[in-house]
Amino acid sequence: RSGSIRTVSEEKLMVAVRVRPLRTDEGPRIVHVVSDKMLVLEEEADSRRDVLRQRRVNDKHYVYDRVFGEGSTQEDVYDAVCAPLVGDTLRGFAGAVFAYGATGAGKTYTMTGLMSRALSHLFASIAESEHPDLFEVKMSYLEIYNENIRDLLNPGAGPLELRDEGGSAAPVVAGLSEVKANSAAHVAELLARGDRARTAEPTHANQHSSRGHALLSVTVSLQVENERTQRGRLFLIDLAGSERAGMRARRLEGAHINRSLLALGNCIMALSGGARYVNYRDSKLTRLLREVLGGRCRTAMVAHVAPGGSHRDTTRSTLHYAQKAS
Ligand code: ADP
Ligand code: MG
Repeated sequence: RSGSIRTVSEEKLMVAVRVRPLRTDEGPRIVHVVSDKMLVLEEEADSRRDVLRQRRVNDKHYVYDRVFGEGSTQEDVYDAVCAPLVGDTLRGFAGAVFAYGATGAGKTYTMTGLMSRALSHLFASIAESEHPDLFEVKMSYLEIYNENIRDLLNPGAGPLELRDEGGSAAPVVAGLSEVKANSAAHVAELLARGDRARTAEPTHANQHSSRGHALLSVTVSLQVENERTQRGRLFLIDLAGSERAGMRARRLEGAHINRSLLALGNCIMALSGGARYVNYRDSKLTRLLREVLGGRCRTAMVAHVAPGGSHRDTTRSTLHYAQKAS
């Protein structure tokens, strides 16, 4: 499928890969961006002869809807991946952008850029519309950690319950804060507060890994007539690190993280293959996202990789996961 030519507006699912800049402490570069749709992962040579002849027999090419190299800007990613979904939200549809990848690969960097741009874009579009006063923007920000839902805008509260209202209605997180947002600056302040409440721990000296999935939901309501309200929704999701939980104490957590990433991957795969039945029930994340995973909505997945040799295994598995989705 990746070879066929379709415009972004026809795609229900867009899969992109972003390669972050190389750091000096992570070995030689093994990820090479070849074009805006293709990259190459250098694999180890089988024999000394291959090395001597400089033959890269095992190198693997990967093709996606978009590949963002390390020179890519936040604007590049926003324009290609997120801007079309913001337009959908204003027209009353739902959409979602996921950031996938191992800890340190650049998920939060990307999502922080997308979140602020998406909100600025939303508020500017509303201000330019004929009746700005008929729009209302609300946001919620939650974390799913070990299959527990926490309110990042009210972090002191206990775990929240996900309730299915039955039928085709989206499930509801009971007691979740929904804050009316007035401006991009207001939202930035709320997000900064929420980010400080995310479950994290120092893995290396200064590096924090986010252990749960963070899900920002922005709802745009438009009073169309006296009674009727049009409602669009944008989900921006910073997924938990996709690497395997190594330590014994983290085994349960690893199982939960993998469970939701697996369920998400399965749902996305079913979507891209046009399957009619998708099993949302497998995790809280997919239950919450049923309206985007099951509807006529557009979804974008940005998989993140580091370019250095010391991350070869996680990079390979991220590239595989993303390829299955595209
Ligand atoms: P993750 O959320 O996947 O664990 P981060 O977004 O925290 O990773 O990124 C790890 C580090 O790399 C951070 O210091 C971040 O600022 C930096 N970084 C990530 N992506 C980029 C990028 N595209 N350009 C510049 N720096 C980046
Ligand atoms: Mg992060």
